[in-house]
Amino acid sequence: MARVYNFSAGPSMLPEPVLKKAASEMLDYEGSGQSVMEMSHRSKTFDKIIKDAEALLREVMNIPDNYKVLFLQGGGSTQFAMVALNLMNKNNKADYIITGQWAKKAFKEAQRYGDAKAVASSEDKTFSYIPKTDKSMFRGYADYVYICLNNTIYGTVYHELPDTGDIPLVADISSNILSEPIDVSKFGLLFAGAQKNMAGAGLTVVIIREDLIGNAMDITPTMLNYKTHADADSLFNTPPCYSIYIAKLVLDWIKNEMGGLDKMKELNEKKAKLLYDFLDSSAMFNGTVVAEDRSLMNVPFVTGDADLDAKFVKEATEAGFVNIKGHRSVGGMRASIYNAMPYEGVEKLVEFMKKFEAENK
Ligand SMILES: *Cc1c(COP(=O)(O)O)cnc(C)c1O
Repeated sequence: MARVYNFSAGPSMLPEPVLKKAASEMLDYEGSGQSVMEMSHRSKTFDKIIKDAEALLREVMNIPDNYKVLFLQGGGSTQFAMVALNLMNKNNKADYIITGQWAKKAFKEAQRYGDAKAVASSEDKTFSYIPKTDKSMFRGYADYVYICLNNTIYGTVYHELPDTGDIPLVADISSNILSEPIDVSKFGLLFAGAQKNMAGAGLTVVIIREDLIGNAMDITPTMLNYKTHADADSLFNTPPCYSIYIAKLVLDWIKNEMGGLDKMKELNEKKAKLLYDFLDSSAMFNGTVVAEDRSLMNVPFVTGDADLDAKFVKEATEAGFVNIKGHRSVGGMRASIYNAMPYEGVEKLVEFMKKFEAENK
């Protein structure tokens, strides 16, 4: 069986050792005679899995004790409403920085529940950069400032966080969680859909400072209240058990095989550099993002000719580099090179791009 190099933005590649381990435990998890997919979420066996997953996440991400970790469902998109319903609760105001489709969707959702204001945007240049902000741009009485830390579609990332003073900073980290260390203490809330860099689809992780829990708007549905899940240790109802188990295996892999997030970052920088250096030297392919805001995880690029782009995508797919077509709003190509993409995968892609360039001069 040949595995392809999968450059999908999500769901995306998982580490092979994780898939093998999950396969070996599929029919009989640790002598329980059951698959994790089949067992009760109230069982002792599953309780250990969810507790281990949380403990590993806390250790790998160095999450301070005054933060809760929640394992939820609904994807990143449900957080767009949950953040507003739970946090826009003192002055009913929140400030948003619009760096792409995901931030824009979050902003639109928040507008349904209160006075959400777009304080900065990079839409004027197809979100190809991170807009500069300073403290004076935020409303001092805003309940939070919202950013999307890594912009999956456009390939930008914040290398420096906006200074929001005492206003809690909320960040969507769906596409860069676990790719490098993040100083959790700088945020009021972080969330991520797991299917990009942590597990399969179905699991959403929320990391929330404890003092921000318990003030949800009255209209908040029980299931969308962080307090519901915080009080029940993420077992208020059936959680996405199997994805939590896969997340545990991935975290174990990061900690014990990759050497933690500092090492993960080193490897991700090495992979991204290889691709960006090639894009900078190529006469055919160009990166679409300003150099200083380039993401380590998502690398969009174009040839400038839609037909040539299509030819490249077709030939790349045939050669085993799959899901490399760019998002429809940017066009061209996008290589998502999450943690599980080996260095060799990027190396082979660059070789293929060089060959394609030589053949299509
Ligand atoms: C994929 C993605 C989302 C949406 O996630 P769903 O789980 O599909 O709702 C939100 N934000 C970012 C940054 C993403 O990459």
